[in-house]
Amino acid sequence: MDIIFLGAGGGRWETIYQNKGTGGFRIHTEKTRLHIDPGPGTLVRMKDLNINPLDTNILFVSHDHPDHYTDAEIIVEAMTKGMTKKRGYIVSNISVLEGFGKYENAISKYHQSMCEKVYILNPGESVSIYDVKLTGTKTKHGDPFGIGLRVSTYNGDIGYTGDTEKIDSLIQDFDGVRVLVANVMKEKGKRIRGHLCSNDLIDLLGSMNKKPELVVINHMGLKMANVIGECRYILENTGVKTVAAKIGLKVSLYKDFYSIMYL
Ligand SMILES: [Zn+2]
Repeated sequence: MDIIFLGAGGGRWETIYQNKGTGGFRIHTEKTRLHIDPGPGTLVRMKDLNINPLDTNILFVSHDHPDHYTDAEIIVEAMTKGMTKKRGYIVSNISVLEGFGKYENAISKYHQSMCEKVYILNPGESVSIYDVKLTGTKTKHGDPFGIGLRVSTYNGDIGYTGDTEKIDSLIQDFDGVRVLVANVMKEKGKRIRGHLCSNDLIDLLGSMNKKPELVVINHMGLKMANVIGECRYILENTGVKTVAAKIGLKVSLYKDFYSIMYL
């Protein structure tokens, strides 16, 4: 089972300059090809990494911000074999799928109609598709319906915070995951509203009963330059092995161990 990253950046400036990429990441199990948060450049990164977009069978979009959704409709077009087959699933929130106030629906009704099923997921709700169970987790961010995700698989659970600031529910929502993908926009000492900084992640990990085996920091802002330093800082303060997402980072999860490589 693999987790493959097509980007590591987030926020407006990183999205504009594309230094770290904003293609989201994928989870590949025996039966599932799940794409999470396909922002700008997703299809280009997939071509570069030799990943076939047509294999995708679940699309997850965490919230209605463009660094998470711009390539979602193209992923649907791939998933449905160029809109010729009713195929695949979309799991997202109400803003992305229906629109809410100033947030317009990011995936057209036309695209939604070509999928086997479309699920609106609220925090605490779960849906089982193929060989994975997807559970929505709570966030506090611009989109009031934004969610994170806990993916339960035959090789343990993977957590994805989505965009959020530090809230107490994160502790319970991600306790016991084997790998936690944490959207850490800001470096240590730079706490801002709506996002996590390294210190928030350290607090979160420190409060967990069962800490993850591995943390991948993701959705890093343009000004987060010394990513290795941040990873070391988090490791030193939590004892949890921490790596930074990168285009082509692949984490393979086995029953009793994991491995890391770069495609
Ligand atoms: Zn956002």
